[in-house]
Amino acid sequence: MRPNVNGIGMTSQRTRARLVERLFEQGITDIRVLEVMRTTPRHLFLDEALAHRAYEDASLPIGFNQTLSQPYTVARMTALLLAGGGMKRVLEVGTGSGYQTAVLAQLVEEVYSIERIRPLQERARLRLRELKLHNVTLRHGDGFGGWAAKAPFDGILTTAAPRAVPQELVEQLRVGGRLVIPVGDDRRQQLSVVTRTETGFEVREVEPARFVPLLSGMVR
Ligand code: SAH
Repeated sequence: MRPNVNGIGMTSQRTRARLVERLFEQGITDIRVLEVMRTTPRHLFLDEALAHRAYEDASLPIGFNQTLSQPYTVARMTALLLAGGGMKRVLEVGTGSGYQTAVLAQLVEEVYSIERIRPLQERARLRLRELKLHNVTLRHGDGFGGWAAKAPFDGILTTAAPRAVPQELVEQLRVGGRLVIPVGDDRRQQLSVVTRTETGFEVREVEPARFVPLLSGMVR
């Protein structure tokens, strides 16, 4: 399942190693996540003009007013998801550049990912194909409704923030499954872990966050 990283110079390998050291210092200790982030070429998920900034711990523009999440955020969300255990089938809402998708694809069996902006989805598809990550299924759509035909999921990860936890996403989790999601408005958001229980769900707020909003409708 490892992507082919041919053609990527020593420089980016070294800068990735430094990035991973910084993530560790910031409290990301899940070795599986660190290892995948050390080997995944984040610069391939950016326009050429920005590729040289790929290993800064910063969120970067990907067009259409959207951003590729900061590496710390990708690592944190992935680790929170995996901590749920038994993550085989995972849904991502907000494919964006496809970087978070690529990280997930190397850690779980199957990834389903939805993006509302068609051109972003198409670019992500090419990159994931280039990295030979074939356990990913992409769809152009509005992720507020999840992906009922593929449910139940062991985990769901949302890379844009709704104002409240979307009920439909929780309903597409198996009992014991978890949704990792930023919740709030543009002034205050909390990265949260929502666990589905027999009778409903439980929410744990992890830390303050800053994500683009989860928006309804689709862009062609
Ligand atoms: N994980 C992405 C982050 C992209 S930013 C990356 O690593 O690049 C969040 C993305 O969520 C944007 O691409 C945005 O278009 C998308 N998005 C926002 N609301 C959505 C919705 N309702 N359904 C699907 N995608 C949505």
